[in-house]
Amino acid sequence: MIWDVVVIGGGAAGLFAASAAAGRGKRTLLLEKNDRLGVKILMSGGTRCNLTQDCDAADIVRAYGKQGRFLRAALAALSPPDLVALANAAGVPTKIEPGGKIFPVSNRAADVLSAWENRTRRSGCEILLSEPLLEIERQTDAFTLRTSRQVHTTRRLVITTGGKSYPGCGTSGDGYAWAEQFGHTIIPTHPALTPLACQPEWVRRLKGVTVPDAGVRVLDPQISSTKKAVLAERRGSLLFTHFGVSGPPVLDVSREVSRHARPQSLALEFDFAPALTAEAFEQQLVARARQEGKKPLSALLPVSLPQRLAATLFELAGVDPAQRGAELSKPHRRALVRCIKRQRVAIAGALGYAKAEVTQGGVALGEVDPRTMQSKLVEGLFFAGEILDVDGPIGGYNFQAAFSTGHLAGLSV
Ligand SMILES: Cc1cc2nc3c(=O)[nH]c(=O)nc-3n(C[C@H](O)[C@H](O)[C@H](O)COP(=O)(O)OP(=O)(O)OC[C@H]3O[C@@H](n4cnc5c(N)ncnc54)[C@H](O)[C@@H]3O)c2cc1C
Repeated sequence: MIWDVVVIGGGAAGLFAASAAAGRGKRTLLLEKNDRLGVKILMSGGTRCNLTQDCDAADIVRAYGKQGRFLRAALAALSPPDLVALANAAGVPTKIEPGGKIFPVSNRAADVLSAWENRTRRSGCEILLSEPLLEIERQTDAFTLRTSRQVHTTRRLVITTGGKSYPGCGTSGDGYAWAEQFGHTIIPTHPALTPLACQPEWVRRLKGVTVPDAGVRVLDPQISSTKKAVLAERRGSLLFTHFGVSGPPVLDVSREVSRHARPQSLALEFDFAPALTAEAFEQQLVARARQEGKKPLSALLPVSLPQRLAATLFELAGVDPAQRGAELSKPHRRALVRCIKRQRVAIAGALGYAKAEVTQGGVALGEVDPRTMQSKLVEGLFFAGEILDVDGPIGGYNFQAAFSTGHLAGLSV
């Protein structure tokens, strides 16, 4: 028997590609390496699944920067509101959290997965689990697929094997070799959305401390222009860990570190009072020290910081937190401002694929038709999801791209 469509990989993109194809009456087979579908959906968002953003298609395109244009047609076929409507109709009510992140009301990623899984099964698609694809051979107008168990033949092939991050989930980058086999260029891959390891011991000593609002910048100290030296910059909740730092702003800037030729030459700069400029911070500190001169400096900072962090910053500034406000000298004041507003630390590196939420790089976008997701090099071959050279910021953007490109591929096969 020859399948109309075979989809390789039952993750976010594969589930949507298979259900869209089968929903159009195509005889569709979905092959998955694991013994269950959607492992990453299940573990996503701390097992709560941040499935998309509260925004429209144009906002997603903008958030992807240069890669955004490629996603336009896919997002027109399945926009964030379309996805939310699908989830709601499938019995998964959703809610919007700060930063526009959309989660299931139940806070259970398992509910999202079972909605998508039921939808795929109901579409009439056949699903084979624990059956990794091992080899592809191109015939004149079909593809022969050798799996761990048998050989399948199909007229159209959709590769949705994801990237290389969290390889224990089945995503060991298998699809890149097949794309190359068919002449596709693979833009070099690197881990993205990963925590960062920092060199100074004081950072690691603060493990467990969370700063709800901090600025994080990646700097290249070798670039003399102050503006150009800032490679990436984000603001949000920062978490100190036993190796360095994590949290949304760190994950978002990490791609600049992991793709840099010499990550250890880079620095991270923290701003622990991002709501105030350095000048405003200093002025408020001066005013408080003057008005409440009898109080210790630790009680006069114009920002509320976790106690362990504040103690460390005083130590780094070489200022005694018990010193009275009235005794604050100009050099001490400047040192405090510098430590709180521009605390620089050397980077030891980005954590690798084992801890990266996504993979940057992948199948070159110029070789894939964005209106269909079909390869421009091989007729009948399609790509969708993270295997493509698209990687977005934290906040549901990556799932939206995977669902939308998968859906469009399924509509186009
Ligand atoms: C810990 C973690 C948390 C995350 N949280 C979020 C979040 O909250 N929001 C968000 O937007 N994004 C999140 N992401 C990113 C998101 O999971 C991915 O962007 C998305 O899953 C990509 O979808 P995909 O279908 O392209 O790949 P995947 O979902 O990775 O699916 C690929 C599938 O292909 C299968 N496969 C691979 N090789 C073969 C083979 N040879 N034969 C058969 N099958 C194969 C794999 O087993 C896997 O099931 C998170 C990622 C991680 C790791």
